[in-house]
Amino acid sequence: MAASVTGLATTRAAAALRAAIPDPAAPRSPDERELLANIRPSDWRNPAPRSRYHLLVIGAGPGGLLAARSAAALGADVALIERHELGGNSLNYGCIPSKSLIRTARAMADMRDAARYGAAPPAGSGLDFPAAMARMQSVRARISRTDSAEGLARIGIALFFGQARFVAADAVEVDGVRLRFKKALIATGSRSMLPDIPGLADAGFLTNESVFHLKSLPKSLLVIGGGPLGCELAQTFARLGSRTLIAHAEPLFLPREERDAAQMVSDALARDGVEIHLNTLVAQVRLDGAGKVVELVSAGNSTTTTVDHILTGIGRVPAVHGLNLEAAGVAYDAENGVHVDDFLRTSNPRIYAAGDVCLEHQYTNTAAASARIVVRNALFLGAKRMSALIAPWCTYTDPEIAHVGMYVRQARQQRIPVKTFTIPMHEVDRAIADGEDEGFVKINVREGTDHILGATIVARHAGEMINSVSLAMVAGIGLRGLADVIHAYPTQGEGIRQAADAYVRTLVSPLLLGLSRRWLRR
Ligand SMILES: Cc1cc2nc3c(=O)[nH]c(=O)nc-3n(C[C@H](O)[C@H](O)[C@H](O)COP(=O)(O)OP(=O)(O)OC[C@H]3O[C@@H](n4cnc5c(N)ncnc54)[C@H](O)[C@@H]3O)c2cc1C
Repeated sequence: MAASVTGLATTRAAAALRAAIPDPAAPRSPDERELLANIRPSDWRNPAPRSRYHLLVIGAGPGGLLAARSAAALGADVALIERHELGGNSLNYGCIPSKSLIRTARAMADMRDAARYGAAPPAGSGLDFPAAMARMQSVRARISRTDSAEGLARIGIALFFGQARFVAADAVEVDGVRLRFKKALIATGSRSMLPDIPGLADAGFLTNESVFHLKSLPKSLLVIGGGPLGCELAQTFARLGSRTLIAHAEPLFLPREERDAAQMVSDALARDGVEIHLNTLVAQVRLDGAGKVVELVSAGNSTTTTVDHILTGIGRVPAVHGLNLEAAGVAYDAENGVHVDDFLRTSNPRIYAAGDVCLEHQYTNTAAASARIVVRNALFLGAKRMSALIAPWCTYTDPEIAHVGMYVRQARQQRIPVKTFTIPMHEVDRAIADGEDEGFVKINVREGTDHILGATIVARHAGEMINSVSLAMVAGIGLRGLADVIHAYPTQGEGIRQAADAYVRTLVSPLLLGLSRRWLRR
């Protein structure tokens, strides 16, 4: 990663981040009050500790919550410790707030494009930013009901609010109270990696922890980093009406994705008016009145621009700080987090880890799936392997990019012969009817077989579509089998069946064709 955008949190940058988080004593709407009552009740009293827990879980994000719930459902004595808010990044600073805002941005884009469909956009169809943010809080409040503090206590989970730190190989301290465990799960997740850019901390900046608390739409916004978070939010704010720039140190966004897929996202951002700066470093920032003057450097050329806000999205770092892992003999490092084997065991046989704190793929579904593995392996002599999981992911730009399994380059690295079947979305009837014909379905199989190695889908609803490929992979259904699945017509998911049909056509050998013709001419 480029020099100007590397480096972990400096003290000043961390202070700037804290300053960006809103005042907890500020007046709140009914939705916000409900949300807080569910995720961090102000009158919560930690329970009296039991002598020892079967499973002690640190962190109540999607991983920790899933583990605590499933272990409790199976009769285990469970303690769950959360230092901040139940739901973790996903509910509070990640998936849910970003997807709520993306929905508003999509509505704005649909209104903008209404004439394409012969519809006139309603008069006064501008953005009501406070209403969009209020809707987001309402969405969070609704979803927070599933894992409310009271609800968790009701199913027998001993819920402790406070910062957990290990004090022995089998004990943790929270709020001055010592809790002993047979088995423990570290599910402390991740936090934003903060760029080390001269002047940035003094000028002030947003991260995913603070951007969803904005009170008004930024007139202009620089997004630093072109990974999933940067691309999703750059497109969102551009569609909402901010002048939006995105600076990315590499030649193309979304470095993990197939190049043609990433290029489509780049084109889509440009169409939405995002000013794209690839191969670009943010060299320095300085305050000039209310504006932030940013120096961008690309191929030795320097330009400056002034923006209201800067949002950093250069990556995530595992949240290992403050856990005192040394006291428990748990091996870790600041970059990769807690070290685990394929069964998610740490170097202390009593302690396991799951989710962002230990995994390369940092997604909610992966955090939950890994936590499920831990419950089996830690409490019930299971031998489930993390490497056996098949987990799709999606970047929720418009169009979306969804992926599951192996990329072509990974297959080649492993010397697996690979054949790809591609259907452009402009050959899928429903995509044409919807005016959403940008993108493709690509399914990779082991050459000479119908064994699916992986798939990439670029489409407006790629995140929904990828699930049927995942299902086929998990169930061991090959591409030949997918050709037999009758899809509702017309649906965009038919792109998958069309790719399967393309595979089936390759089975018609010249010999078979000859025999068939002779049979028909009888
Ligand atoms: C902007 C954004 C958008 C995202 N969008 C998506 C998406 O669309 N789809 C998707 O699958 N993923 C998405 N993600 C990723 C997803 O949010 C994470 O992968 C997921 O939340 C990880 O879950 P986790 O349980 O491992 O950790 P987290 O959700 O990070 O939760 C960890 C919890 O542990 C607590 N904790 C940490 N240290 C301690 C301690 N010492 N004591 C007590 N508690 C502690 C934290 O307060 C936190 O609540 C997004 C992330 C971001 C930032």
